[in-house]
Amino acid sequence: MKKLFIIISCFCLVSCNNKEIKHKTASPDQNAHFDKYKETFVESLWRLYPGWASGIGYHKYDSILTIPNQQNRDKLLAFSKANLDSLKTFDINKLSDNNKTDYYMLENSFNETQWSFNTFKSYEWNPAAYNVCGEFAEMLANNYDSLDIRLENFYLKLNNVSAYYEAAKQNIKNPTAEHTQLAIDQNIGGASIFSTDLNEALTRSKLSDEKKIEIKARATTAIEAITDYASWLKQLENKEARSFRIGAELFKKKFEFDIMSGYSADQIYEKALEHKKELHVKMLVLTKELWPKYLKDKKMPEDNMLAIREMIDVLSTKHVKPDSFQLAIEKQIPELVEFIKRNDLITLDPTKPLVVRKEPAYMAGTAGASISSPGPYDKNGNTYYNVGSFGGWDKARIESYLREYNHYILQILNIHEAIPGHYTQLIYSNQSPSIIKSIFGNGAMVEGWAVYTELMMLENGYGASAGSAQASPEMWLMYYKWNLRSTCNTILDYSIHTKNLNKEEALNFLMNEAFQQKAEAEGKWKRASLSQVQLCSYFTGYTEIYDLREELKKKQGDKFNLKAFHEKFLSYGSAPVKLIRELMLKEN
Ligand code: ZN
Ligand code: ZN
Repeated sequence: MKKLFIIISCFCLVSCNNKEIKHKTASPDQNAHFDKYKETFVESLWRLYPGWASGIGYHKYDSILTIPNQQNRDKLLAFSKANLDSLKTFDINKLSDNNKTDYYMLENSFNETQWSFNTFKSYEWNPAAYNVCGEFAEMLANNYDSLDIRLENFYLKLNNVSAYYEAAKQNIKNPTAEHTQLAIDQNIGGASIFSTDLNEALTRSKLSDEKKIEIKARATTAIEAITDYASWLKQLENKEARSFRIGAELFKKKFEFDIMSGYSADQIYEKALEHKKELHVKMLVLTKELWPKYLKDKKMPEDNMLAIREMIDVLSTKHVKPDSFQLAIEKQIPELVEFIKRNDLITLDPTKPLVVRKEPAYMAGTAGASISSPGPYDKNGNTYYNVGSFGGWDKARIESYLREYNHYILQILNIHEAIPGHYTQLIYSNQSPSIIKSIFGNGAMVEGWAVYTELMMLENGYGASAGSAQASPEMWLMYYKWNLRSTCNTILDYSIHTKNLNKEEALNFLMNEAFQQKAEAEGKWKRASLSQVQLCSYFTGYTEIYDLREELKKKQGDKFNLKAFHEKFLSYGSAPVKLIRELMLKEN
């Protein structure tokens, strides 16, 4: 795009003097039109995707359950085609930076819809795509409206459940065995929402008894439809099930749509292999340095990988007690803030506090930590740092978890999830409001930023021992182990889908080269066999942000300022790094 600008303005200088100004500056007229277009577009989007709308906090269409049949797909295809045409009426060069990135993100999304229905066709082979339980569960769990209004919509929405699963059965052709099993487990597992959870909500409701009976009757029909779908899947004659591996061609295309990276899938795979090698070299140096301090009576194994693993295992035993896990996180947040201020790394907005809380019951079971941010329709809502609890876990499982999120990794996790990772990025993205970026936000940019900040904090001396300005070797070693995780996620995802990597090879790879425990490796195998490309987003976004920073450092020399870089980078909102890069390089 930088090139395009130069060509256009050069051409105009010689041929059409009066047009030149228009090309060079954003046109208020075009931008006003584009803003109007976006507004209308979003309204129609929610009408066509009511479930998505409810999920993002727009509750006008809560009572509607879309039936996923051919007619609906035709409607969505026509919608994306019409919008591609609408986009063509705008002159990109006259749009502001904010609108420009919105434009490209929309265009990408419309093209992806076309590709998804015409080529990828997961609606045929992924039975787990059909599950109503989550949407209904949200209606009971979230207090966005009075319980009775939510139950009224719940009741209306129930009307289409049978037709929904009938359409699902019509769609499914030669599904993968893995997604079939997942669909059975998740649908049966989720169905209790229509009995236990619903009944509990009904007892609290002030609706009439007649109404309650009607709701229960429809809920019973819904349970029957779900159970029937699960049995239908179990009995499906599918002797030559489709492979869950999508193959090189589809993987590369999906990577382009989902990540919108400046790199291709092949390039990012090569970069990940290279990065893994570099990490191993650095880890060995640190292991040799730390060995005498922790294991002086033991001979270091000849096998370098084994030596690194032993060192990591020793450091992992330093961790908090189970009952102070949340407290440790709460205590660390102000320390992170203080460190960032002292080192002048990025401006933090003190008016938007982060609330650390025990994860709410409806999220339970996911473990670990996550950020719940207010959606585009609830901007003033709190941001929560959800911390998992160990309810129902046995001692061994808790110990293994605490070793994974040990003294060092827990700090890196807080950087990633909270400050200056996801939470900080979110505050910046709310300052450059774009409904499009709130809806279509680029996952690789969001994850990439969080992964980038982990390194950036350590580079600036976070995790130093007393009296030192540099992060300690212990911290670096554990950081590298953590960074290996996202690096190997990319290698694994790519290798499974495009190079036929099998389960045994995958587990060996994760345990031997990424130093993971068997349980973690098995969980990752499962995730990689049920998803495609998403596991590449962390490493890809991180690599692109890091590369952009180094490129700007070279270009700006002494004038480069880290804090200014961070704030400028985040000011574009959750746009693909590739687009932010073009805009930032153009200005420098
Ligand atoms: Zn322990
Ligand atoms: Zn993250």
